[in-house]
Amino acid sequence: MNHKEMNNFIKKARKLAKPFRVTDDSFRLKDIDPDDTLDLTAEDKPRAKEALAMGVSLLAEFQDMLYAQDRWALLLIFQAMDAAGKDSAIKHVMSGVNPQGCEVHSFKAPSNEDLDHDFMWRCARRLPERGRIGIFNRSYYEETLVVRVHREFLEKQKLPPELVTKDIWEERFQDIRHIERYLTRNGVVIRKFFLHVSKKEQKKRFLERIEEPEKHWKFSAADIKERQYWDDYMKAYEDVIQNTATKHAPWYVVPADNKWFTRVVVAAAVIETLASLNLHYPEVSKEKLKELAAAKKALLTGK
Ligand code: ATP
Ligand code: MG
Repeated sequence: MNHKEMNNFIKKARKLAKPFRVTDDSFRLKDIDPDDTLDLTAEDKPRAKEALAMGVSLLAEFQDMLYAQDRWALLLIFQAMDAAGKDSAIKHVMSGVNPQGCEVHSFKAPSNEDLDHDFMWRCARRLPERGRIGIFNRSYYEETLVVRVHREFLEKQKLPPELVTKDIWEERFQDIRHIERYLTRNGVVIRKFFLHVSKKEQKKRFLERIEEPEKHWKFSAADIKERQYWDDYMKAYEDVIQNTATKHAPWYVVPADNKWFTRVVVAAAVIETLASLNLHYPEVSKEKLKELAAAKKALLTGK
């Protein structure tokens, strides 16, 4: 891609990601249709795949500069209901980046050691270093999602009882907002993704998991039980997004009934983010240039 093509591509990425970017509390979940593909139809799928491939190689280039510059870190957080396609979105979008500059962490039910600490502890230890991309497959947001839907998890957290009041969720939102503000001020760029799948599409994907032997491993009976709480989860997600979407750490609520579309939107969002950082390779000092010239001369004249 030459410079002009790249700028055009970034412009398109920005346009594609924009309808799904949430930066304040005006968000309503009902405004996002999980089956939405904007003006793209199934016929555009091959073109979307091509664009994704281009996007993936541009991402690799950006990541190389991010690493060389060693100033910013990028934290991508993925949240979703089961079978929404978190894993596959992460796999496809990050497929081109250098594994040395990228780390994925999955946060499952907390261990006993985790429960002996504040809720941020296990995530704080996994934050990306400067120059790196960190991906959280689930995150501290579970503290206001699954823990809110299933109050018994909150009881297991061993908090002093007088600290658990009716304000606990509002307090957690506040803490998360502050932590994200703090991280942003330290050069950690945060982008959050909610892959919004419909209940109907989830059912279809669960049935595929049951019917196709190579998908059996993904099936868990517990996931079916969790469907009963669908409405509670949707309410919790809406509340989380309204309370934690900010300009510096926006949510992207990505329609997830069509995997090809989900991937393109996620890639576009990551591209618009990295493009906004004005990344470039570090400039080499005069002394360094002299050193390079001397090294070249020595190599050429030596044996
Ligand atoms: P995924 O469902 O993300 O694809 P998985 O099926 O491989 O991953 P699971 O064993 O289902 O892994 O682990 C994820 C589960 O852990 C989710 O149901 C999630 O709600 C739960 N979880 C994550 N964080 C917490 C938390 N802080 N407290 C309680 N449960 C949590
Ligand atoms: Mg699971």
